[in-house]
Amino acid sequence: MTSTDLAALRPRLPSPLEEPVDERFARHGVRLLLKRDDLIHPELIGNKWRKLAPNLAAASGRPVVTFGGAYSNHLRATAAAGRLLGLPTVGVVRGQELADRPLNPSLARCAADGMRLHFVGRSTYRRKTDPETLAAVLRAADAEGAYVVPEGGSNALAVRGCQALGEELRGQADVVAVACGTGGTLAGLAAGLGPGQRTLGVPVLKGGFLADDIRRLQAEAFGGPRGEWWLDERFHFGGYARTTPELDAFAEDFEGRHGVRVERLYVAKLLYALVALVEEGAFAEGATVAAVITGAPFPG
Ligand SMILES: *Cc1c(COP(=O)(O)O)cnc(C)c1O
Repeated sequence: MTSTDLAALRPRLPSPLEEPVDERFARHGVRLLLKRDDLIHPELIGNKWRKLAPNLAAASGRPVVTFGGAYSNHLRATAAAGRLLGLPTVGVVRGQELADRPLNPSLARCAADGMRLHFVGRSTYRRKTDPETLAAVLRAADAEGAYVVPEGGSNALAVRGCQALGEELRGQADVVAVACGTGGTLAGLAAGLGPGQRTLGVPVLKGGFLADDIRRLQAEAFGGPRGEWWLDERFHFGGYARTTPELDAFAEDFEGRHGVRVERLYVAKLLYALVALVEEGAFAEGATVAAVITGAPFPG
């Protein structure tokens, strides 16, 4: 496969930058912008495009194997890429017990896109970056020689892919805010922004080592720290894929106000955090805050 094949998918890049009117921000003299990465491609959505595209090019036609939980947006994007580009894909899924159950809608979509699913136990899954465990998993999955994309898709190529997101936002905002899973998107975004621009990360997982992970990813991708960024760890709502009635109501309300479909695992938490922060006076009057809409809801 060549990068030309990816271009044939006609990604919408640079992604649109929109300025909705939201009185919760306007009241504090803060401009809100939405960086619509959710519009890059209908199936290879948002940061998944930015992270996968350089890896798919590097795979150059080899089967791609990657890792994820039962609701992973990354697995779905990889499976969709496989179908669109005619590339075999293997998904290593956390949870041996899932092998004996009907597939949930997310995994069913992966399978329908031609991804071969290989289920592993949680302790094996946890040790998947250990070279011996990885080799054993690839052997068991009949995927030796495949191109390996790590869980969440965050490796040095992916981080460098996300640098373009920052470059597209140069000079456009004082603060750029993004929801974080592995932190790979933030690592690249912060590196691509211009001087004086700061990046705010909102982790959706509870109590991790995300700041360390981001520093490690930047070291791998760029040889050292890049950009000015910080994390606000208060908005995980109990952890990955957890939600509350309040968060759901917030997301529905945001959709009604702005006609943007709000992805619930990440984007809802980011937008909620920004409304809370603007209420707290975290952004100076006259500041422009850009929220990266990194994805869209799973269609059915
Ligand atoms: C995967 C995903 C993220 C997390 O990206 P990381 O690079 O792992 O931090 C954020 N938003 C959406 C919508 C995603 O699907």
